[in-house]
Amino acid sequence: MQPKGTRLEVNLNALEHNYHYLRSKLDHGTKFISVVKANAYGHGIVEVAQKLQDLGTDYFATAYVEEAVELRNNKIVKPILVLHAQQHNLEICIDRCLEPVIYSVEMLDAFTAFAKAKNQQSYPIHIEFNTGLNRIGIDAVDLDKVLDKIKSSPEIKVRGLQSHLAASEDLDEEAFTNKQILLFEKLADRMQDVLGYEILKHESNTSGILNFKSAHFSMVRSGIGLYGFGNDLKFDKHLKPIGTLISNISQIRTIEAGETVSYNRMFVAKDRTTYAVVAIGHGDGINRIYGYGKLKVQVNGHAAPTLGIICMDMLMIDITGIEASVGDEVVIFDPQVHTSRQMAEDAGTISYELLTGIQKRVKRVYLSN
Ligand SMILES: *Cc1c(COP(=O)(O)O)cnc(C)c1O
Repeated sequence: MQPKGTRLEVNLNALEHNYHYLRSKLDHGTKFISVVKANAYGHGIVEVAQKLQDLGTDYFATAYVEEAVELRNNKIVKPILVLHAQQHNLEICIDRCLEPVIYSVEMLDAFTAFAKAKNQQSYPIHIEFNTGLNRIGIDAVDLDKVLDKIKSSPEIKVRGLQSHLAASEDLDEEAFTNKQILLFEKLADRMQDVLGYEILKHESNTSGILNFKSAHFSMVRSGIGLYGFGNDLKFDKHLKPIGTLISNISQIRTIEAGETVSYNRMFVAKDRTTYAVVAIGHGDGINRIYGYGKLKVQVNGHAAPTLGIICMDMLMIDITGIEASVGDEVVIFDPQVHTSRQMAEDAGTISYELLTGIQKRVKRVYLSN
């Protein structure tokens, strides 16, 4: 049966294509972390992760512990890195076999205490160093302090060393990125020397994979690339956006010059105007920045701009001169004609924000052949 109503169609074959493309950029043996935080960038964490597990991803990463627990509750058995665990739920990491990224000295102490209390030995953790993003991470000056603590804590073992690049998509910042890569290498070498065992090293997101071979190290973390974007049109050509956001028309009306549409009467018709009411709004993740014609959707092959203010459950589009009827499909974004990247950039934001903002109320429908 053909699915109906407002929905995000997710093409699992496109996900497979992107996974293979990204892996093809890596040396044989470099491990691949599939980043599925924020509901797999809006596409549905469980279905996307199950597909990636079937494809052979080495690792998953979520931002929060709760997201990782959802994976564990849904047959995901691969290692899961928790990028942004917090002290109040670190204990759950041990209960559900999750690998926390430890990004401060206090967090290292807290986690070691939990591991000890739960009689762990060599529990795998990842240490995050701040090499220039200045977000979370341990500063290089604290390296020796951290190493002393790790050496005297048999309940934990460093599985990986992580850092995050600040501007991997921006080649104007290449010098800064190279400095980050060098510092990371130095920290990793010293850590391995002192601890005396091999550690996984990971510093690259999608743009790091595509732009900085020297930042691949032993493992990479990719999110947006899996979903079809490479932060540069030259890479987008090789990737396939996996989502298509579709809604439909609830009502059609014609107004005369001088009449207004939507809240606060912000759209005033200059001429006789036919418009359609579409069953999607800011309550679904189409934010108010997409109003006033900033967004053009597709109706029966024609582009139709939004009129006036976007409402919570509806938005209005100008269909003057377009053949359309109640029930007709309205394509908000799709992989070819009007991508989520284009849509986001036209309104001054990025695809990451648009995709992760698609709300629960929008049905996810999975397609594969
Ligand atoms: C979100 C995130 C990623 C994935 O970034 P993409 O640009 O989507 O590939 C990788 N690493 C960390 C630490 C992140 O927070």
